[in-house]
Amino acid sequence: MQSFNGKKVVSGIAIGKIKIYKTSTYEINTAQNFDPDNETKRFEDARLIVQRQQHELYEKALVTTGQDTAGIFEAHELMLDDEDLIEACKDFINDKYCAEYAVQTGFDNVAQTFSEMEDEYFKARSADVIDLKNSMLDVLSGHSGESLQANEPVILVAEDLAPSETVKLDKNLLLGLITRQGSQNSHTAILARSMNLPTLIQCHEITDDCEGKFAILDGYNSCVYIEPDENIVKELTAKHEEDIKKEKLLQELKGLPSVTKDGRKIRVYANIGGIKDINAVIENDAEGVGLFRSEFVYLDSKTDPDEDTQFESYKRVLQDLSPRQVIIRTCDIGADKQVDYLNLEHEENPALGFRAIRICLTRPEFFKRQLRALLRASAFGNLGIMFPMIISKSELLRCKEILSECQKELAAENVKIGKFEIGIMIETPAAAICADDLAEEVDFFSIGTNDLTQYTCAIDRQNANLEPFSDTHHPAVLKLIKMTIDAGHRHNTWVGICGELGADLSLTREFVSMGIDELSVNPKSVLPLRAAIRDLDLKELKQEIPVENNNSKPGFFRRLFK
Ligand code: PEP
Ligand code: MG
Repeated sequence: MQSFNGKKVVSGIAIGKIKIYKTSTYEINTAQNFDPDNETKRFEDARLIVQRQQHELYEKALVTTGQDTAGIFEAHELMLDDEDLIEACKDFINDKYCAEYAVQTGFDNVAQTFSEMEDEYFKARSADVIDLKNSMLDVLSGHSGESLQANEPVILVAEDLAPSETVKLDKNLLLGLITRQGSQNSHTAILARSMNLPTLIQCHEITDDCEGKFAILDGYNSCVYIEPDENIVKELTAKHEEDIKKEKLLQELKGLPSVTKDGRKIRVYANIGGIKDINAVIENDAEGVGLFRSEFVYLDSKTDPDEDTQFESYKRVLQDLSPRQVIIRTCDIGADKQVDYLNLEHEENPALGFRAIRICLTRPEFFKRQLRALLRASAFGNLGIMFPMIISKSELLRCKEILSECQKELAAENVKIGKFEIGIMIETPAAAICADDLAEEVDFFSIGTNDLTQYTCAIDRQNANLEPFSDTHHPAVLKLIKMTIDAGHRHNTWVGICGELGADLSLTREFVSMGIDELSVNPKSVLPLRAAIRDLDLKELKQEIPVENNNSKPGFFRRLFK
């Protein structure tokens, strides 16, 4: 038996034979005696063909892996129009090199520039340039671009896989993926995640002589066993069968309500960042969207998005997900989410600074553009409008005032407005403590446990060095959550959680016992959360001790409800 370690991109177990995947190599003529006109024409023809291919891959990915990954090929199409990239190649053609040499050298130079960048995201883009280079060389050499040739499903081992190679692979022939190179941020990793295939990257040591050998990829422990011992086969086969059963059970939960055994119904919603996540909401059978982080519409744009651009995004999400409720949070820019065009001043302490509603209330015209877009979109589905980072009733009243100004303007313009709910994020201790006052003014609260934990415990959520000091189940945070739920319910305001803690299955029982009405989680956590809710029986907890009466010892709820 041999074993090789890598880095996990997708966990899970794959059992089968290894297939080594080789990318085509080319002999390139380095002579400097080619006709520039002829080579320019060959270069341009190839560029247009590859652009068309990328468009076809985009359409294929839309159907097979979703909008998110399809966007990779859309970006490739645009990259091929990049003037710097084209110039980098044409310089060589003008020096009388052949188109193949110009593409090889020009694309490699651009890829090299990307790979030397500090930013991990841009670093990973170098693989996209290499992918395009290979497609260009395939076309110039008349090569078809090899796809996976196998007659049974295999664990594929490659040096690295380009996005276009990955999407061309027949998923029915794939059990798992292993690459020797690659990064967590690469588009191949993103594609692997969306295909949900056990995947290892940076498995540097795995050798070509594994071809055809029986292997087990253990994504949980980030390793692959070649010709594994009997006991490993037994152990991992059992784990694999357990995974299959679990996945099947989860799929069977689609269409079923998220209700406890004793009849408490919890709404299980999903968090999204934009249009690209609509499929994930539907596929994972989320009952609504509890948090659409609208700031991604701003982060995805090079300029301040205008009212119509925003309207189109909100309308599309509302329409596609109707009749589900979609809660759109107004812009939460600032702190870790910055855009250049807002020209925000540098701050020493951005998490405590000029962010979210503070920007919107200081720039009413900016805020009104978004509110008008939201109100116009409300006619197309079931909308909730949510304000982030609220700390006082006066702020909330000002938000509502601006919202009703927009309503009046649109009414005067004869624009149809649908029904919608209004809510706020509870993500500061101030909001949780004043929740009674705030609840009078809104239909719902959504607890943002990510920021609530950061502000309650004074632990910067961006600083990994603080992990030893952080307790995601801190009793103070749990107490604030309980206070918020109680305050909301005293005023007929429903209460949900949209921070990461909502997906923490070790707290589901506690949240349901506290009386939570809705949990909004990343789409992949919807079905596991529904399973956990359906497994709960809270009959035995007839008398819930109100949090005000306890002496707030750590782990109070955990001890009470375990
Ligand atoms: C939160 O703070 O818990 C939250 C959901 O908002 P974000 O993570 O976008 O700050
Ligand atoms: Mg937040």
